[in-house]
Amino acid sequence: KYTGISYDEAMKVRKANLTPGLLTYYKNPIMIVQGHMQWLWDSSGKRYLDLFGGIVTVSVGHCHPKVTERAKKQMDNLWHTTNIYLHPTIHQYAEKLAAKLPGNLKVVYFTNSGSEANDLAVLMARLHTGVFDIISLRNAYHGASPYLMGLTALSTWRFNVPTGFGIHQSMNPDPYRGPWGGANCRDSPSQTLRSCDCGAGECQAGVKYADQLEDVLRFSMPKDKCGAFFAESIQGVGGTTQFPKNFLRKAFDIVRAKGGICISDEVQTGFGRLGDHFWGFESHGVTPDIVTMAKGIGNGFPLAAVVTTPEIALSMAKALHFNTYGGNPLACAVGSAVLDVIEEEKIQENAEKTGTHFILELRKLMDEFETIGDVRGKGLMIGVELVKNREGIEPLPVEDVNKVWEHMRDYGILVGKGGIFGNVLRIKPPMCITKADVDFTIAVLKDALKTCL
Ligand code: PMP
Repeated sequence: KYTGISYDEAMKVRKANLTPGLLTYYKNPIMIVQGHMQWLWDSSGKRYLDLFGGIVTVSVGHCHPKVTERAKKQMDNLWHTTNIYLHPTIHQYAEKLAAKLPGNLKVVYFTNSGSEANDLAVLMARLHTGVFDIISLRNAYHGASPYLMGLTALSTWRFNVPTGFGIHQSMNPDPYRGPWGGANCRDSPSQTLRSCDCGAGECQAGVKYADQLEDVLRFSMPKDKCGAFFAESIQGVGGTTQFPKNFLRKAFDIVRAKGGICISDEVQTGFGRLGDHFWGFESHGVTPDIVTMAKGIGNGFPLAAVVTTPEIALSMAKALHFNTYGGNPLACAVGSAVLDVIEEEKIQENAEKTGTHFILELRKLMDEFETIGDVRGKGLMIGVELVKNREGIEPLPVEDVNKVWEHMRDYGILVGKGGIFGNVLRIKPPMCITKADVDFTIAVLKDALKTCL
């Protein structure tokens, strides 16, 4: 039984001593006091099925016993020493993590957050190519540091200050809301929605969005030059936006032809979440030059990393680079245990099996509810876009989305929200969830859509 500070006290402190800019979920926010695997408990003792995992962060389960045990063991032995000394954990872990990456992606830099990792990747790319200009995609989220606010192309996260100069954005390759493509253009388990309008033969939507990227290079970059191209493998905060097939492959070719390097932000899509591959970029058939990762890497522990090639890493060796906590023994012990659990407990296989079941069941609901405009994603990275009408794809007003969302919470299910209109339910749970959890969620969502709208 929970005996800590009361809910009312916590609310008082939140108002008085924490930033007023904090985003707090739910009309009556919940105070989470305990977690175990896919479950969370609030201060009143109510249990929730956590389908958002602290924003796609808890990968193998809250307080996973094996990860906790390894962290405790490390804590008793050595908490901290910076990289100026050798310590065994960082070496064992760096080797193990690098072995998970394809090609020549061998050199690991440890940081403490996704933003730090992306900041470092920007610097690395600029130093390596000698070109300042970088491209990201509209609707992307890459972090909120002053550098990254320019790369993150979502107005919700922008302050009215000059940010991220030297960063250009290309059209969001969104087959649902964009001018080209239909659901068939995506690489997903079953395509039953609005069909692709590309006609016979290979899907052309990816090529058309890649043409837009080429236009950005042509008009906005220094002549015949490109520093780097940054992309998520499926956009997370942007509302689980899934690119059309071939887009990323073509985009990488275009950027590389101008001497640019390609950076995959795997903060949300890595570590088996998409089911079919360990890394999201692998589902697109590409190998980036730099990969950034956070969140799932540490199952909620502050740990992140950048992995690159020895050649690119060399460009970073011209000055000293240092991060006090990056690669500390505790974080590395946790990261290493997470990799073991993913393998031992077949977490990626579960993401594929349970995630595919989830997506197919959600798609079945589309027969019954016009308000579900789109179900997309792969593995356990799922988006459900709610609309006023399926034909016109007008977003469901936020007040109505909130009714559904609050109803699910009342029945003990936590999901996220996202997308530029705030009308996409984001389902990205700890990857240990079961078929029974999915079936329960489908029943609750069905009830929510029936009773709230
Ligand atoms: N990249 C992506 C794709 C993200 O979703 C996030 C966080 N939502 C970040 C980077 C930034 O990570 P952090 O919050 O750890 O700085």
